[in-house]
Amino acid sequence: MKAAILSAPQPVSERPLQIVEVADPRPRSGHVLLRIRACGVCRTDLHIVEGELPPKQVRIIPGHQIVGDVVDGELLGARVGVSWLGGTDGTCTYCKRGMENLCDSPTFTGYTVAGGYAEYAFARSDFVFPLPQALDDLHAAPLLCAGIIGFRSLRVAGVEKGERVGLFGFGASAHLAIKVLQAWDCEVYVSTRGKSHRELAESMGATWVGSETEKPSVELDRAVTFAPSGDVVVAALSSLRKGGIVAINAIHLDRMPQFDYDKLLWGERQLRSVANMTRADARDFLALAAEIGLRPKVTVFKLDEANEALMAVKNDAVDGAAVIVP
Ligand SMILES: [Zn+2]
Ligand SMILES: [Zn+2]
Repeated sequence: MKAAILSAPQPVSERPLQIVEVADPRPRSGHVLLRIRACGVCRTDLHIVEGELPPKQVRIIPGHQIVGDVVDGELLGARVGVSWLGGTDGTCTYCKRGMENLCDSPTFTGYTVAGGYAEYAFARSDFVFPLPQALDDLHAAPLLCAGIIGFRSLRVAGVEKGERVGLFGFGASAHLAIKVLQAWDCEVYVSTRGKSHRELAESMGATWVGSETEKPSVELDRAVTFAPSGDVVVAALSSLRKGGIVAINAIHLDRMPQFDYDKLLWGERQLRSVANMTRADARDFLALAAEIGLRPKVTVFKLDEANEALMAVKNDAVDGAAVIVP
């Protein structure tokens, strides 16, 4: 099969992914074989390819937002989705407490096991999600990480109906989260760099839109940050009311700057990180997405253009989400 392989992390401008023919994946028990229809491109893929996340395998196929048909194994013939959480041990203290997103021995799709920048992939049969018919391939793919983890971020931020919520950054994840927030009658305040991202936020009905350094004129109940930047986290904190919560939706931050505790955290403001996802997050979100007719804005790339897709994500040149079609 054809696949995009990473052997050595490098800046994406060096085109680190090699698109080559590799042996077809061999059947494994407890797994299903998928013929891939589409695979979303996530900022985490960029962190893997550029080495901000240390390599776990000598060679890896990235990609963890896979839509595919089961061609071998349980659920034969079903169209399913695979996300970042490729598996857990089921036995550690976190799994036993219902916090499988924090599992001590997790498997991550496209990082610790082969992912979806390919024609075929294996996935654990208990970690695939049958996809509602209402979600077509291209529009389902970005839901599988950007969507699910964006949804988890809203949960971690404790968002309640009708609240004022800030989204700091407006890429693939945020442009899905805004639709969920609107379905919950929230006012959405978007702070983001890049004119086209601000225009997209405006066209999607944000209550307020500003650049990454501008502050909304009202205090926010909740905020979610999406940029891999500690300065953005501090900007989000400074926009909160007392008792408000900032959830950081980023697997990697450039650094966490010093900030003024008395002004920014005192008053029971909280700073929380968002780590991975649970299968319950995935199921709840996919059902909600089908119900509210969530349709991401997508830009399609061929598998041969996997490096270009990552470059576009890095340069904020994609409005909405990038999707690779093999
Ligand atoms: Zn575990
Ligand atoms: Zn992701």
